[in-house]
Amino acid sequence: MTHRSGLMTPPPRSERGLIVEAVGLSRVYDMGSHTVEALTDVDLGVRSGTMVAVRGRSGSGKTTLLNLLGGLDRPTSGRVLVDSEDLTTMDDEQLVEVRRVKVGFIFQAFGLIPILTARENVQVPLRLTHTDVAERETRSRALLELVGLGDRGDHRPHELSGGEQQRVAIARALANTPRVILADEPTGQLDTRTGQTIVELIRTLIRSEHVAVVIATHDPAPLAIADSVVELRDGRIVSRG
Ligand code: ADP
Ligand code: MG
Repeated sequence: MTHRSGLMTPPPRSERGLIVEAVGLSRVYDMGSHTVEALTDVDLGVRSGTMVAVRGRSGSGKTTLLNLLGGLDRPTSGRVLVDSEDLTTMDDEQLVEVRRVKVGFIFQAFGLIPILTARENVQVPLRLTHTDVAERETRSRALLELVGLGDRGDHRPHELSGGEQQRVAIARALANTPRVILADEPTGQLDTRTGQTIVELIRTLIRSEHVAVVIATHDPAPLAIADSVVELRDGRIVSRG
């Protein structure tokens, strides 16, 4: 094989700026008596420093897609590349590692640990990567400052508003300087105004932290400021804008 030496060799994906790439992605859930085609033949590329919104009604496949992009689930067919690495050829241990260092997750219900303070919640991913104590402390404080919660580090989740809890979750998602953040309806439990400020924060962080974001949403706010919007219907992309 000489495909690496020719002048026509395409640059590595990272040089094209694609931090996440899905190719022909399908996911069929086998329910025994029947199957559910949750996602069918989805192609998607996400550039570093950009925000892609995935819209579509409930059941259209948004969560399935995000889970596949983040290595939380495996496709029935197709491929997922994150930072030029093919997730679909990885064993479980390698997938865990990718999730720890390359991907940050933000969920609708925030997903904070109730008994931990805001600062300790932000430190959870740093513990998983065995970051030393002093560095964990410094970084968690800086991240809470970054999301505007410098004075809330000692609060537990129930001592914070919904919007503040989601800010903590954003800080946590950024802890290990991921290449991509996957946000599954992050404004779904927030009022419109709070949701708007959360989306604006994510937008700002994309630039300052050089991260890509894929956001699943019904809300108009993220759709309006996303760099591109794809619409899913019954597991297929039916429009791109
Ligand atoms: P959305 O996030 O857009 O609401 P989902 O990705 O959660 O959509 O679901 C897509 C389809 O796959 C739906 O029909 C849903 O019922 C089905 N589905 C999702 N998760 C599972 C699962 N773990 N097992 C079986 N079917 C599932
Ligand atoms: Mg969903």
